Amino acid sequence: MNGNKDLLVDRTSLIEKIYSIKQNAQKRRTNYREGQLNRPVSFWIKEDRLISEIGKDFTIILRTRGCSWALSEHGGCSMCGYYLDANKKDVSATQIINQFDHAFDDKINEITQDSNNFILKIFNSGSFLDEIEIPKNVRNYILEKISKVEKIKEIVIESRVEYITSEKLVEINQFLDNKHIEIAVGLETVNDYIRNCYINKGVLFKDFKNVLNLCKDHGVGVKVYLLFKPLFLNEQAAIDDCINSIQTLISLGVNSISINPMNIQKGTLVEQLWSQNRYKPPWFYSLFKCLKKSVNGKDLEKTRLLCDPSGAGTKRGIHNCLKRECESSAKERLKHFVLSQDLSELDRNGYECTCKKKYTLKKVFY
Ligand code: SF4
Ligand SMILES: [Zn+2]
Repeated sequence: MNGNKDLLVDRTSLIEKIYSIKQNAQKRRTNYREGQLNRPVSFWIKEDRLISEIGKDFTIILRTRGCSWALSEHGGCSMCGYYLDANKKDVSATQIINQFDHAFDDKINEITQDSNNFILKIFNSGSFLDEIEIPKNVRNYILEKISKVEKIKEIVIESRVEYITSEKLVEINQFLDNKHIEIAVGLETVNDYIRNCYINKGVLFKDFKNVLNLCKDHGVGVKVYLLFKPLFLNEQAAIDDCINSIQTLISLGVNSISINPMNIQKGTLVEQLWSQNRYKPPWFYSLFKCLKKSVNGKDLEKTRLLCDPSGAGTKRGIHNCLKRECESSAKERLKHFVLSQDLSELDRNGYECTCKKKYTLKKVFY
């Protein structure tokens, strides 16, 4: 896989661990029924931050055969359990089109009648530009259909760097010349060692930078996912790594950064270590500290900083002390910051919990 030959570290034991956990989890899985393969995993509309305004997102999660990296002998990433959503066998082109059409037809009236502008996010728990997962004719069918909806101003698709080519960018531009496009890349961190030895991403920073430049040449935006608190980092190391990543990416001119605080997904090495009390998801306090230290108002005019954590406020997601008022207050502050891109929202009035003292006294830095 791209870039791996250049990574001069032995990751054999990490890969073996991830691989064996997956083999066990996969044994318990069955194939999805025909009816399920003609429906997306999920789709929804909700309030979201657009480039220069508050609007709405329309998100569609398609079910495919799954991420090629996760299915390879490399085992996939240490925190990723999306392979459990994938079908065990191939999902046909017609089935993927039916999934998209189902969500699209269900929501199109709501979109056209809404006064807000929309961002459409198409996720497939893998790479939209991997033609083994999403055949070219399906990709083009979807892009063409989107191009006709005036209300949809922005599109986000996801891809690993190795599938982003000049040829595909030209094609995407041909379909969507009237919309802002961002390709979301799971870089996780700018640090090659953490990304590959702790996360097992199999991607080098230099490969990402090449793709970023390629996208810039084609006028296509790049959104970067950063993983907040990868395995084997404590709270402070996670904060430092994320600050360094955000600042580096802003200086490189990426369009959006989306921070994904770790959430414990089923069937992953992260879940195994968490269940043995050898890993704990990050604190909201750490995330807020990281956000405030990484950027200022000027940076946020150039780069959109996003964060919509899965499992937030629960023991499997980012949380503070798990007291209801404490978690909902942290979630509210984060939501208001993301929507407004105003850092002062992270300090907005709300419930002040006694757990902050415990956190500040660094009794929690493991
Ligand atoms: S995080 Fe992305 S690249 Fe890694 S295994 Fe999951 S879907 Fe594949
Ligand atoms: Zn608390």
